[in-house]
Amino acid sequence: MANDLDSLRQQMRAVTSEIMQKVQERMELARQIGEVKSRLDLDVRDEKVEQEVRLAVIRQAAAIGMDRDFALRLLNTLLTESEAVQAQGRKSAAPKQTHLAIFQKAKQLEASGKKMIHLEVGEPDYSAPESVGRSLAEAFRSRQYHYTETRGIPQLRNAIAKASGVGEDEVIVTPGGRFAVFSAIAGLLKPGQELITVEPAWPAYRECAEFAGVKTKVLRTTLEDGWTPDIDELKSLISEGTKMLAINYPNNPTGKILDRKTMSGIVSLARDHGLYLLSDEVYSDYAFRQFDSVLTHDYEKSIVVSSFSKTYAMTGFRVGYAVAEAEIIKKMTRVQAVGITSVAEPIQHAALAALSEDPSANVRIMEKRLKFISSKLKEMGLRFVEPDGAMYVYPELPASDDISVVESLLEKGVAIAPGSGFGDSYSKFVRITACRPEDELAQGLEIMSSVIRK
Ligand code: PMP
Repeated sequence: MANDLDSLRQQMRAVTSEIMQKVQERMELARQIGEVKSRLDLDVRDEKVEQEVRLAVIRQAAAIGMDRDFALRLLNTLLTESEAVQAQGRKSAAPKQTHLAIFQKAKQLEASGKKMIHLEVGEPDYSAPESVGRSLAEAFRSRQYHYTETRGIPQLRNAIAKASGVGEDEVIVTPGGRFAVFSAIAGLLKPGQELITVEPAWPAYRECAEFAGVKTKVLRTTLEDGWTPDIDELKSLISEGTKMLAINYPNNPTGKILDRKTMSGIVSLARDHGLYLLSDEVYSDYAFRQFDSVLTHDYEKSIVVSSFSKTYAMTGFRVGYAVAEAEIIKKMTRVQAVGITSVAEPIQHAALAALSEDPSANVRIMEKRLKFISSKLKEMGLRFVEPDGAMYVYPELPASDDISVVESLLEKGVAIAPGSGFGDSYSKFVRITACRPEDELAQGLEIMSSVIRK
C-alpha cells in the first residue's frame, strides 16, 4: 500500500512538473504576443479571441471528462496572467489616478498650506442627524459596546428588513457599502469566475473582483447613448464562466437612473443565465426622478447594497447593509466573520437612530447644487447628461485629456476627479462632486472654466 502511494505521488509530481513547463511556455508566448500587439498598437484584451479559446476549452473539457467550471476557472487564471504579462510596460498599465488618489494629493497640498476646493470626493459636507450623536452617547452610557452577531444587531436588521419589505434573515449590516460589495464578490464567486461591470463605474467592483481572483469584463456605455447600457451587447459578454453582474443606479459618476424597461431587460438576462445581480443602490435616496430598487423585480439572485454614508452624511461611521436571500446573506456573513467579527455595536445603534430620520432636506440640497453645476457646465459649452440622481456630474472635456486638466486645476487649488478612474475609455471626462456649498462650487467651476478655455 505504502509503495502504491509513493508511486502515485511520484507520477503526480511528474504531471505537475509537465503542467508547470507548459504554463511557462504559454507565458512566453503571451509575452511575444504582447510585443506584437504593442507594435501594432492593438488592445491587450481581445474578447473575441478569448471567447474562441473559451469555447475550445469547454469542448475539450467535455471530451476528456473534466468538470467544465473547473476548466473555465483554470483558463481564466491563465488568461488573467497572460494579460498582465502583455500589459507590462504599456502606458495603460501605469497605476490609475482615481478620485481617491487626487484626494490624497489635495490633502498633501493642504498640509503644505495651500487652500483647496474639494470637488473630487463623494462625501457630503452637511452634518449627520443629531439623534445619531445622542444614540452614540446612550450606547456608551448603557455599555452597548460589545461584539454582536456578525450579521448585525437584531433591532437594526429588523428595521432595515421592514423598510425593505424583506425578512430579518435577508439582511446583513456591513462596515459601509464597500464591504458589502466585497463580501458579495468574495463570498459568492470563486477565483477564475467572471464578473461583468458597467462602465463608467465606481472602481471598487473591479478592485474587489481582482483582489478575489475574479476576472472582470466590461460593458461600456457612452454619453451619446445617455449612459444607457445596450442589452444585446451585455448579452454578448456573458459566457459560461460569468457568474455576476454588478450595476449601480443612481450611478456614480454619471448620475444616471435607468428606465424600468432597461432594468427589466437586465434582470431578465441575469435570470436567463443564472447570474447574481449585485445592485449598488447607495444613492437610492438621491433620486430626482422615479427610482425602483432591483428588489421590486423579485429576482432571487439579486443583492442590493445600501449605505448610511451618503443619505445621512455618515461616511466616517462606516456602516451600510445588504439585502438578499437568506442563503446569500449566509455566504456574505462568512466573509464578514473571517474579516471583522462584527460592525462596532455603538455604530449599529447610531445607524438605527439615523433610519428614523427624514433625509429629504439633504436630497433637496444635493439636487439644487447639481442643477447649479449643470448650469455652469452648460455656460462652458461642455457636453454631459444631466444627472437623474446621486451627487455628481460627469462632463466631457473639449479637447484636453483628463489628467492634464486635473493636474492644472490642483495647482490652482481645485480638486476634481479624472474620468479615467471610472474606466479605461473615459479619459476625456472628469467628475465633479456636489458636496460643497454653492459659493465654493461657483469658485471651483470658475477656475475650471479658465483652465479649459486655454
Ligand atoms: N457605492 C458607490 C457607488 C459609491 O460611490 C460609494 C462611495 N463612494 C460606495 C458604494 C461606498 O460607500 P460606503 O462604503 O461609505 O458605504
